[in-house]
Amino acid sequence: MIEKSLRQLGQALAAREISSVELTSLFLDRIARLNPEINAFITVDREQSLAQARAADARLAASAAGPLTGIPIAQKDIFCAQGWTTTCASKMLANFVSPYDATVIAKLHQEAGMVSLGKTNMDEFAMGSSNETSYFGPVKNPWDRTRVPGGSSGGSAAAVAARLAPVATGTDTGGSIRQPAALCNLTGLKPTYGVVSRYGMIAFASSLDQGGPMAPSAEDCALLLNAMSGFDARDSTSLERPVEDYARDLEKPLAGLRIGLPREFFGAGCDPAVMAAVQAAIGEYEKLGAVSVEVSLPNSHLSVPAYYVIAPAEASSNLSRFDGVRYGYRAPDYDSLDDMYMKTRAQGFGAEVKRRILIGAYVLSHGYYDAYYLQAQRIRRLIAADFVEAFKSCDLIMGPTSPSTAFKLGERAADPVQMYLSDIYTIAVNLAGLPAMSIPCGFADGLPVGLQLIGDYFAEARLLNAAHRFQQATDWHRRQPADIA
Ligand code: GLN
Repeated sequence: MIEKSLRQLGQALAAREISSVELTSLFLDRIARLNPEINAFITVDREQSLAQARAADARLAASAAGPLTGIPIAQKDIFCAQGWTTTCASKMLANFVSPYDATVIAKLHQEAGMVSLGKTNMDEFAMGSSNETSYFGPVKNPWDRTRVPGGSSGGSAAAVAARLAPVATGTDTGGSIRQPAALCNLTGLKPTYGVVSRYGMIAFASSLDQGGPMAPSAEDCALLLNAMSGFDARDSTSLERPVEDYARDLEKPLAGLRIGLPREFFGAGCDPAVMAAVQAAIGEYEKLGAVSVEVSLPNSHLSVPAYYVIAPAEASSNLSRFDGVRYGYRAPDYDSLDDMYMKTRAQGFGAEVKRRILIGAYVLSHGYYDAYYLQAQRIRRLIAADFVEAFKSCDLIMGPTSPSTAFKLGERAADPVQMYLSDIYTIAVNLAGLPAMSIPCGFADGLPVGLQLIGDYFAEARLLNAAHRFQQATDWHRRQPADIA
């Protein structure tokens, strides 16, 4: 059962080969056994999970089930879920029990009937690329437990890689679905900005944040995106578009597909062993009938500096709500209101979150706004325009997801700039609001390598088609860490 895809699990449940309670218990038992070492989950609540599974079994018995009803899922702890502790991996929210469901959670639990196995570990407030900024400790990569799983959705990635959950939710503000998917040998999709509701997803950088699926395969991602996406009046940037079946084009042949290879993604800066696996994957696409063309994203080298102005600016505003009055932690001893604010925020936030708030407040301040924030916004526009130009001569863009495989725990923790450079291939996509995926494409020194596929706006079905055809022709995505059984 732990090897099965969403479609196979749906069939097993429909055929009564297993009940949702049995399936959920099987994964909860694995979590109890393996999570103490991997640390993929912050919160597990057996009673709530089993109550959801019993409700799913009732729906299955009443023939009121959808394709995902009764299937367990792990939820990134950035999504508010009613009655569940929702921490965002911060001391600030360590005891916060959400009074309501995020739209993504409501869609997956109430509409689709999926069963939550718990809330997954992440970088604090989704700020990081290694999961090491979590208040609840780092997550270990199931492929090598001395290495990071990537971040910020590292707990979701490790949970699926160790088969503690069949699939998981993630969020991607600057690579946080794609980079951990690459480092843990998973398939992850960051949708077009506005496709998945942000309501109830704790805000980091609102103009960049987007939820999406993380799973073993593209087919699973398509089914999960069907259940997660859709217009939501409670998110002011949600897009009002007709409902789509993202699995509709999975089987389409790739003959004639034009793959754009940005010259800037194939130069220096990438580990040669990673690049070799990426090049081999592009060769595989050519065997499937695709043709490669060179394209250029001339401003892509500015994406990391622009992002690390814009994202902290938005974060400094979003995180001002954590003031000890309205939510979460409050410092125990203080002499005045100002003192309470200062002590609460000094004690409640970790070092990386404080660094972002300071940078954000600085770039928005009088005298620096024009020099930093406004300039970054102009660069953001140029980066988006580069993609518009590139998509005139290709259908999809491909390149590496991450410049290296999973790095050692602690290796980059002391050097924020080196950590930020983990995101060089992923961030331009968020600035432009485009959809993109990472799919397993090989190994370097025994560690997984991810291939990044970038689509034009609303090209999710095409991305999933390209990913699925590759996964029919290769078995990289089926490989699992040796010692997880
Ligand atoms: N590594 C990026 C950051 O630290 C990505 C974060 C994200 O996508 N949530 O900001």
